[in-house]
Amino acid sequence: MSDSKIIDGKAFAENLRKDIAAQVAAMKQGHGLTPGLAVVLVGDDPASRIYVGSKAKQTKEVGMNSFEHRLPDTTGQAELLALIGKLNRDPAVNGILVQLPLPRQIDPQAVIDAIDPDKDVDGFHPTNVGRLWVDEPGFTPATPTGIIRMLREHYAEEGGTLAGKEVVIVGRSAIVGKPMAGLLLREHCTVTISHSKTKDLAAVCRRADVVIAAVGRPGLIGPDHIREGAVVVDVGINRVKDAETVARMFPGDPKKAAQFADKGSILTGDVDFVAILDKAGAVSPVPGGVGPLTVAMLVASTLASSRRRQGL
Ligand code: NAP
Repeated sequence: MSDSKIIDGKAFAENLRKDIAAQVAAMKQGHGLTPGLAVVLVGDDPASRIYVGSKAKQTKEVGMNSFEHRLPDTTGQAELLALIGKLNRDPAVNGILVQLPLPRQIDPQAVIDAIDPDKDVDGFHPTNVGRLWVDEPGFTPATPTGIIRMLREHYAEEGGTLAGKEVVIVGRSAIVGKPMAGLLLREHCTVTISHSKTKDLAAVCRRADVVIAAVGRPGLIGPDHIREGAVVVDVGINRVKDAETVARMFPGDPKKAAQFADKGSILTGDVDFVAILDKAGAVSPVPGGVGPLTVAMLVASTLASSRRRQGL
C-alpha cells in the first residue's frame, strides 16, 4: 500500500467543535447570549431521525440551545409553514434547519423559501444561493463549506494553497456539486462540474489536481479517474449490501469483512478507496471524512448567525 495521506475528517471536526465551544462560552460570558438552532423533522424516516439526533446532540455539546420540533408525517404544508414563521420571529433561534426529504404532501422548495435567509444555516434559500454567486456574505451549504476548510488545511500543511488548482467535481446537486463550484471559484480554483451525461468521465477527472465525488454510487471513481498524486475528496455515502462488491472494494480487509458479517452491509463512499491508494496523494475516507465535518459546519454557521445578529 502507498503512503497516500488519509484526511482525518473526524479529528478536523473535533477541533472545530472545540473552537466553537470556546467561542460560545465567551459569548455567554461577555454578552449573556446563547446561540440557538431549531431543527425540524417531519415524519419518522430512520436516517433522518439519526441526522436530526446528531445535529441536536452536537449543538448542545458546544453549549448552544437546541430546539427540536418533531412533527407527524401527516403534517400539512400550511402547518409546517406556520411553524417556520414562528421560528423566523423567535429571537432565541439563530438557525433553522428543516430535515429533507419531506413527505409527499409538502413542497420542499416552498418550505426552503419560507425560511428567513438570515437564519437559513443550510444555505439552501435562493437568496443565499444568489449571495454565493455574487460574492456577498451569506450562508453556504455545510458539506461543501466543510470541504473547503478541509482542502485549505491540507494545502497549508503542504506549504501551498488552493489557488490555481484544477478541480473536477462529480455531481451537480444543489446541496453539494453546484455550491462546491461557487466556493472553489472564490478560492481561485479552475473548476469543472461533471455529471451523468459527461463524456469520458475518467479522462475529465484525470486532468484534476483535486477530484470531489458527490454522486451516490459505490466505487464509481477508481484508479483510471485519478492522476498520480491527486487529492480525492469522497462525499458519497452508500450502504453496500452485496458481498461481491464488498470483497472487490476491500479485498482481504478483515475489518470490513467482519462489519459485513455482523451487519449485513457496510458504508462506503463513491471512491474505490483501496484501489486508488497507490495513486492518490491524499484521500478522505468514508466513514470518517466529509460526514463528521458537515454537522460541525452547521453548528459553526449557527454561531456565525448569532454573532452577525448581535453585530459582534
Ligand atoms: P444527487 O442529488 O442524487 O446528485 C447526484 C449527482 O451525481 C447528479 O448530479 C448526477 O448527475 C450525478 N451522477 C449520477 N450518476 C453519475 C455517473 N455515472 N457519472 C457521473 N455523475 C453521475 O446527490 P447529492 O445529494 O449531491 O449526494 C451525493 C452523494 O453524497 C450521496 O451519496 C449522498 O448521500 C452524499 N452526501 C453526503 C453528505 C455528507 O455529509 N457527507 C452530504 C450530502 C450528500 P445528473 O445530474 O446528470 O443526474
